[in-house]
Amino acid sequence: MDNLQNILGDVQPITKIIDPQISLLKRVPRRLISRKLAAQLCTLDSPLKHAYRLTYYECSENILQSDGRHRTKFCGYAWCSVCSAIRMGRNIDTYAPIITDWNGLWFVTLTLRTVTREQLPMRIAEMSRRFGNLNQTMVRRFGPDWKAIRKRETSYNRVHDTYHHHYHLIIQGEEQARAVVALWLSMSQHDAGHLGQDIRPADKGSLTELLKYTSKLVVDGKNGKEFTPVPALDWIFQCMRRKPAITRYGFKLPKDVADVLDSETITDTVGTMAWKHVEETITWKFDVDMMDWVNHVTGECLTEYEPSPEIIELQKNVGPDPIVSVVPEPSNHAVPSVLVPSMYLQPTVSLRPNFSQTIIDPMGVP
Ligand SMILES: [Zn+2]
Repeated sequence: MDNLQNILGDVQPITKIIDPQISLLKRVPRRLISRKLAAQLCTLDSPLKHAYRLTYYECSENILQSDGRHRTKFCGYAWCSVCSAIRMGRNIDTYAPIITDWNGLWFVTLTLRTVTREQLPMRIAEMSRRFGNLNQTMVRRFGPDWKAIRKRETSYNRVHDTYHHHYHLIIQGEEQARAVVALWLSMSQHDAGHLGQDIRPADKGSLTELLKYTSKLVVDGKNGKEFTPVPALDWIFQCMRRKPAITRYGFKLPKDVADVLDSETITDTVGTMAWKHVEETITWKFDVDMMDWVNHVTGECLTEYEPSPEIIELQKNVGPDPIVSVVPEPSNHAVPSVLVPSMYLQPTVSLRPNFSQTIIDPMGVP
């Protein structure tokens, strides 16, 4: 078990989810983890602090039940396990039928050597430039037979305090896959080695592997599963902000599909079917202690979730919510609010007072 996805369970393609209760049951551990991680990220003096607070206070925090349906609000951010799972389900829905028609599937990993924190923005830009040149060569050489899906990923090495930005790809055709690796090595003679690159046959299941995460949120620690150190995660999220995680080569999606997949936001206007007291209007609010959404009028739980031992261990290892101890929660959560009161947007505890170097504009609450 080497990643959070394994702990939180499989992501189903959206089209295969027929039982909304099962879908919400799967969302409970994701909300627990996402809320806890956001709380720890909120303690940093980061340009993303407003976004972290949105995840903490609002993402799937309240489920509004009316007209027999459940509707909620999502943050859409990469550090949120709830939103990442939704995005991954949509991506699988879209890309699985496309790659089924490809003539041979190959899974390729392209890397360069690890870099320091300060070098990471330059490394991301340089790899992007190199891959742009590689793409042009592949188009010239293979024409319409060049098809690929590329995913960016950045991992952090806590032993050496270094960052590893790399690409995973699913490519049509062995000849094309081998050409990509050969081109990458020829462009990267001084900062890549054969050992860092990987090429192997793929199948439809490789799509899940390709899409599962853009940065490992959880790693093995001294006491079991722990979050990757949050200052490192924050730096990765700052550097990757507004850069698409997935890029398509050699094929296009219909515009409406591409717009949904590439959007930074996730909307829930349609909602899902309610299954309890379907005639009633109810606000179910997420309760960390109950590990469920609770009707605070009656005390009833929505999903009746039972945590696995791994989730209990992870909750224990990653510690208490630091933000809760210094900032009271907004008193009125009956209706999800777009605006978080300004008092909640002030810095709370800064673990690293000088952690304010920005490479992007500070963003406000959407
Ligand atoms: Zn979210």
